[in-house]
Amino acid sequence: MDHVDPRRLIPRTNELLELPGVREAGTRLNGRVIRDLVQHFQEQSRRGELAPGQVASALLAAVAARRATTLRPVLNATGVIVHTNLGRAPLSAAAIEAVVAASGYVDVELDLGDGSRSSRGAGARAALLAACPAAEDALVVNNGAAALVLATTALAAGREVVVSRGELVEIGAGFRLPDLITSTGARLHEVGTTNRTHLRDYAAAVGPDTGCVLKVHPSNFRVDGFTSAVPLDELGPLAKANGIPLVADLGSGLLAPDPHLPHEPDAATALADGADVVTASGDKLLGGPQAGLLLGRKEIITQLARHPLARAVRADKLALAALEATIAGEPPPVVEALHADVGQLRRRTDTLAQALGVPVVAHEGRVGGGGAPGVALPGWALRLPEGVARLLRAGDPAVLPRVHDGSCLVDLRCVPEGDDERLLYAVRQALADLEVAGEGRAG
Ligand SMILES: *Cc1c(COP(=O)(O)O)cnc(C)c1O
Repeated sequence: MDHVDPRRLIPRTNELLELPGVREAGTRLNGRVIRDLVQHFQEQSRRGELAPGQVASALLAAVAARRATTLRPVLNATGVIVHTNLGRAPLSAAAIEAVVAASGYVDVELDLGDGSRSSRGAGARAALLAACPAAEDALVVNNGAAALVLATTALAAGREVVVSRGELVEIGAGFRLPDLITSTGARLHEVGTTNRTHLRDYAAAVGPDTGCVLKVHPSNFRVDGFTSAVPLDELGPLAKANGIPLVADLGSGLLAPDPHLPHEPDAATALADGADVVTASGDKLLGGPQAGLLLGRKEIITQLARHPLARAVRADKLALAALEATIAGEPPPVVEALHADVGQLRRRTDTLAQALGVPVVAHEGRVGGGGAPGVALPGWALRLPEGVARLLRAGDPAVLPRVHDGSCLVDLRCVPEGDDERLLYAVRQALADLEVAGEGRAG
């Protein structure tokens, strides 16, 4: 008998595309994506890594599992509320509904009454002003960094931004404030020292070349010891006397004070203290979509809105919809997690611990996202063997626990109560898989 090259047994492309499960996937996946999968398994088989007879079943399984998005929802069991690697703030139900409503054609720049063009994002602006009456006007841009660069560019390009050396911070990976501010043509005029800056330092620095004075909230670290910084309510009068705008970068996005976060600056207080404009993020403590908020004096906001850069950093319709609904709707998950009842957390954790037969340990949650670095949020966690972490992350639903001191800790603070059953299922699954892998349960 002739020797048959097994590669000749690999099903042909047309044959595979005609499989019912593959045809059905054509209603929800791009044709190219399906053909790429077909090719992938054919090539695997050509390399001898997959038997020709298994190509069809492998393809069917892959096609059934393939979604148009590769982003996967994750249960956040870290206790870190604004988790940058998990997309910061989860949206409220109201915001999700608004995003869905805005995803088609929507009157984001249209007055349906008379059919004329209207100002973009008027609803989000109105919501911000209603929630923060201290602001005369508001503008929403792409993110907090964009808000800051727009403010410093419009007010100080070709001139100086006066800022304390103690506030020239790196916010996140690769995002350094001084680089950002100088990238569009403003010059930095640094005053004071790393640990101490006085009002007289600012007073000596401001002059005809000053475009604005900038006060940055060093949101992701604390300086202890021999330190001093000039509060906004002392900078305000100085800026005012010199006719120079005072910009406050708050970062966190609190619109009003939160008694749980006494050291976290908020827009209303900053404006009352004399800031002419404040910048903040939409997806930190406000609990909304990625957005940059600018709130403050009307003439300055107008000036910023008219700057050419404003068009390059404008917010998209989905973010505008979600932002408005975050402010007008029920408290978003970030606020709920921040104010979670400790007793309730304990009861939920105990219930899962009993069902699983694992211990409960005290565990402190964090605000995260470069906010309130010193604030610990008392709570609880399930303590599991460290090896479970990897299995939880890869599981379905995917769970991100905290790995600490040789343990895998599962904190329920940021898990919606309605997901406790799914979390229980995921942990049970991961523990079982660990048993199978023979790593035991000790820990
Ligand atoms: C987070 C933060 C920013 C950047 O905001 P993004 O929304 O991440 O662009 C800027 N300044 C401060 C003080 C921050 O905390």
